[in-house]
Amino acid sequence: SAPAAILSALSAAARGGVLFKGGGAIETLAAVKTFAFDKTGTLTTGRATVNQIVASDGDEDGFLSLLAGVEAHSEHHIAAAILRETAARGLTGVAVTDVSAHPSAGILGRDSLGQVWAGNARMVSAMGATIDNPALTQLEEEARTVVYLGRGPKVLGAVTVADEARATSAPALQALRDSGVRKIVMLTGDRRPVALRIGGELGIAPEDIRAGMLPKDKVDAIGELARDGTVAFVGDGVNDAAALARADVGIAMGAAGSDVALQAADVALLSENMRKLAEAHHLARRTVSIIR
Ligand code: ADP
Ligand code: MG
Repeated sequence: SAPAAILSALSAAARGGVLFKGGGAIETLAAVKTFAFDKTGTLTTGRATVNQIVASDGDEDGFLSLLAGVEAHSEHHIAAAILRETAARGLTGVAVTDVSAHPSAGILGRDSLGQVWAGNARMVSAMGATIDNPALTQLEEEARTVVYLGRGPKVLGAVTVADEARATSAPALQALRDSGVRKIVMLTGDRRPVALRIGGELGIAPEDIRAGMLPKDKVDAIGELARDGTVAFVGDGVNDAAALARADVGIAMGAAGSDVALQAADVALLSENMRKLAEAHHLARRTVSIIR
């Protein structure tokens, strides 16, 4: 049976909004040497805004209506940002059906004229399209996420979206470092310039930032990091379930996290306050030091 110290830690954590799946997760969390973090929606708020808009044919409203029609079928933070922008402009999304998501790339569907898609550079090449408009190429110079919209092999334009680091991320990461965590890394599907901007604000070294990753790349990276000691992965559940499951401790952040994420995780942070993570780590270490 679990020692009294573990049971009391489980209930103290639960009162603070941190749910451990069992006493074992407390012991593993206490042993973590490396924390790997997802970026979007985890280290950042996930509440992105649309910045620039480039519609190749000059019809911004028509372009945004089609983009909204595609993104209406996605659960990604980027989609929510785009839908907020189109709603604020009073635009309605074009009807899009037969939708499939390409994790860490984008989303594909059909409207009345044929195949339409939205996503990043990986999505552009998957669709056999190329970015040949200088106004579009220029969007890549900002440290923002670029979302291209296309029809078949043709790029119709793009928007840039950006969100910001959570106010609680920097102090939480510092608390983890202060309590002896050896390594903090960022694993993201986003572009490297965006990852470097956010990572820089949080004191994550450029060599510990890995960008442009697919969900399976995150899983492989966690396996690699695990060779140097116990690894925790912290994610918000969007495309993260496999990484949460692969880590020694999977930590799902935010009540908004998907059910799949909560199933794959060992620890659930019910709030979006990243300080809860540092508190949980502290509690785990204190508890283990009592029972040993
Ligand atoms: P992260 O690892 O930062 O949480 P994801 O792996 O979820 O990011 O997504 C990686 C990238 O894939 C995004 O930055 C974006 O470029 C692209 N992407 C994913 N889903 C969509 C979508 N619905 N619309 C446009 N782009 C998308
Ligand atoms: Mg994410």
